[in-house]
Amino acid sequence: MQTEIQKIDEGSLVTAKKILYDGGLVAFPTETVYGLGANAFDSSAVKKIYEVKGRPQDNPLIVHVHKDYDLDRIVCDIPQYAAKLAEKFLPGPLTLVLKSRQTVSPVVSCGLETVGVRMPSHEGAQRFLKYADLPVAAPSANISKHVSPVTAEHVYADFNGKIPLILDGGKSSGGIESTVLDCTGAVPCVLRSGLITREMIAEVAGDCTTFVPKDGEKVRSPGMKYKHYSPNCRTMLFDYANAFRALEEYNGQRSAGVKAFIMCDDDCRRNFFGCVPESDVLMLGKTADEIASNLYFKLREGEKTADLIIAVAPKEQDGIMVGVMNRLTKACGS
Ligand code: AMP
Ligand code: MG
Repeated sequence: MQTEIQKIDEGSLVTAKKILYDGGLVAFPTETVYGLGANAFDSSAVKKIYEVKGRPQDNPLIVHVHKDYDLDRIVCDIPQYAAKLAEKFLPGPLTLVLKSRQTVSPVVSCGLETVGVRMPSHEGAQRFLKYADLPVAAPSANISKHVSPVTAEHVYADFNGKIPLILDGGKSSGGIESTVLDCTGAVPCVLRSGLITREMIAEVAGDCTTFVPKDGEKVRSPGMKYKHYSPNCRTMLFDYANAFRALEEYNGQRSAGVKAFIMCDDDCRRNFFGCVPESDVLMLGKTADEIASNLYFKLREGEKTADLIIAVAPKEQDGIMVGVMNRLTKACGS
């Protein structure tokens, strides 16, 4: 199969819609990461997503809709706080897990009674979803466990020859996946951290908890139990407090002939890695937004040439950094 990368215009939207209605897959940009989409009503199309990605069969997908889509067509029993959150944050990087109306294919939710719904704010994603006029089931458009894609080229690197079309909407600005929020209880509960933080949700909903699985307890968001986001090279992760050890490791590896790279934020670079040449640094940036936006991009850049990425965690770890640390730990932690 030939894989085309096309800018989003009238012509590519016609092609994309036809592919979806024929049961095929289309990759598309969002403000978080690129998605690999199928018609959410079509079970055999949704199954293709799992096959192409090599995704475990018990890790449910998120349904993407355009901003004028009536969520009542897919979900029911929407609590008042969820309606308020939708009003405040959608379209945007927030996925609401709600009771499913069982109208979309059961394959989307792996047979669960709930379904995750999301309205991306990316203009190209909105155009695509509006034009297709379908709910589109989509996980991140990467081979399972690999780093999520934030450009059309990243998607191409994983799926060349396996899907017909990648809609190109430039680099995803958010850079990490949406916040996944369980809205089936009395109080919303964060299942996966993202750019919409627990604090932002609590401010609107009155309260918000974070799900922390206890030993032996059922995992509420099945995706959480899997290894994720890993680059195709060796990795190490150091705390900010141990940055000096990261430098020792870097020096030791380089003298042994290993192509080692440092991945860190601006503050860490200035304080600890002034002597490391520019070409060996995967710079994450200064602010939390920049760091989130650059994380996957830099992991993908690094894996092309590095034998080893030595990452150092940023010092501040609250707000958006909770989501960044979750990804960084899974990508580079042991
Ligand atoms: P991805 O599409 O690769 O970003 O992964 C989707 C994430 O949303 C995974 O962590 C899933 O486990 C989670 N998710 C999707 N649907 C549900 C649901 N109905 N209940 C709980 N978690 C969900
Ligand atoms: Mg994913």
